[in-house]
Amino acid sequence: MSKYIFITGGVLSSLGKGIASSSIGLLLKQRGFSVTVQKFDPYLNVDPGTMNPFQHGEVYVTDDGAETDLDLGHYERFLDSSMSKLNNSTAGQVYFDVISRERKGEYLGKTVQVIPHITDEIKRRMRGFDGKRDIVIVEIGGTVGDIESLPFLEAARQLSFEVGKQNALFVHLTYVPFIKSAGELKTKPTQHSVKVLMEHGIMPDILLCRAEMKLDKEIRAKIGLFCNVEERSVIEALDAETIYEVPMMFAKRELDTIISEKLHLRKRVPNMDAWGRFVHRIKAPKHQVTIGLVGKYVKYQDSYKSISEAFIHAGALNNTKVVLKWIDSEHINESNVAQQLKGLDGILVAPGFGSRGVEGKITAIKHVRENNIPFFGICLGMQCAVIEFARNVAGLTNANSTEFKKSSYPVIDLMPDQKHVSDKGGTMRLGAYKAHLQKSSHAYKAYKSEVITERHRHRYEFNNEFRDVLTQAGLKLSGVSPDGRLVEIVEVRNHPWFVGVQFHPELMSRAVTGHPLFAAFVRAALVNSGG
Ligand code: GLN
Repeated sequence: MSKYIFITGGVLSSLGKGIASSSIGLLLKQRGFSVTVQKFDPYLNVDPGTMNPFQHGEVYVTDDGAETDLDLGHYERFLDSSMSKLNNSTAGQVYFDVISRERKGEYLGKTVQVIPHITDEIKRRMRGFDGKRDIVIVEIGGTVGDIESLPFLEAARQLSFEVGKQNALFVHLTYVPFIKSAGELKTKPTQHSVKVLMEHGIMPDILLCRAEMKLDKEIRAKIGLFCNVEERSVIEALDAETIYEVPMMFAKRELDTIISEKLHLRKRVPNMDAWGRFVHRIKAPKHQVTIGLVGKYVKYQDSYKSISEAFIHAGALNNTKVVLKWIDSEHINESNVAQQLKGLDGILVAPGFGSRGVEGKITAIKHVRENNIPFFGICLGMQCAVIEFARNVAGLTNANSTEFKKSSYPVIDLMPDQKHVSDKGGTMRLGAYKAHLQKSSHAYKAYKSEVITERHRHRYEFNNEFRDVLTQAGLKLSGVSPDGRLVEIVEVRNHPWFVGVQFHPELMSRAVTGHPLFAAFVRAALVNSGG
């Protein structure tokens, strides 16, 4: 049987439950246990696939093609292990399953209710890894006290009761604000949020207190007394310089030791040597580069979470601080492009859907191609690079993607076998697929392997009808699907580093090891900057 750690949040959102869950997971993994993390989201969307990035941030795609919450990205990056659709459940999925069963008559005429039917389905999902991992961390989205979180808390309470005290633990993440006028840290919000938890029959074992300053012994004793938690299990969670430092901060406060004792885990010491070196390289880099990130959701940077994390990893590998400059592609045009991209050591054109901002991206790509500035295009960014090359190098003046516009040169299009899938456009290519690399390419130099696996989330493809014209004009198709039918990577000859990829490499970048393409791109930017 697995041991369960439930993580809840109180007072307000955005306290970093995802990072806390990942950090606890890492410390336990480094003690030699097998660990996984599950996220339960109380919203009614079946998955975040259709949600606006401004609302929800990035959609994270797993190997098995599930479109999931961005916290799964943190789990993968911290734990260096791949999540699957079993790691993310939404209220929408839970209700959908229960209602579908009801329609099939599987409840044999009973009244179908939140308790027990919805809670049973939540528990079934929480037990998805039972016996397969030593420790299952269950992160419950939202804030305690929200109406929609209730069935999840109830399910967690029931599950903890079923597996027994030795096998379940509740960690509550809360906020201890510093009130300037009083010159004091205030514990009342924490007391209230623990009270709400207790109303649901949950007594937290450990409190992680987000605070701007250290909690002294007195405050911790006070919180402990009022919340029924022993003093040493009231642990401060201070703002960190980098999220990757959080596990070490927790370890200093013996969080992993306390968890091990409470769950009766075998005594072990976490091995954090490589992680420590990684954090050191993030905090004290030798060099610096500035990369322009051209996209349309730049105002809400959670939309590109995995990309910015991948740059942190790639920076650490190159002993370089990567400063990202966010550039709204809608604001780029031919007359201001040189100004907008001035001083950048490299530019990345981001993924995206729909035509808004596309012409700005194409204009930016023309500029970096002509000026030998390192370029990295991801998904839509790669598609824009193909359009730009077709228009300005191969002379196909009105080349475009059929996602945006009808054109006599649809260089990006739906594949023939996709076109009849639906009138609105084909199905999405989601999840991990293999690609084969050409040996003389930047891609091969980076991966050092002829076969790679990368995750996808797109509908449109490089149109094979234009393979000959574009390659003759100097575009290199350096990566293709194993059957050779789909173009996965394009490069421009006689350019220091110009790589566009149809997949999403940012989803495979892990802490410590990073991703070969991001590492190579940062390296090229460093060379370009003269560093
Ligand atoms: N909109 C493009 C497509 O569907 C690219 C998608 C993306 O960038 N993720 O093919």
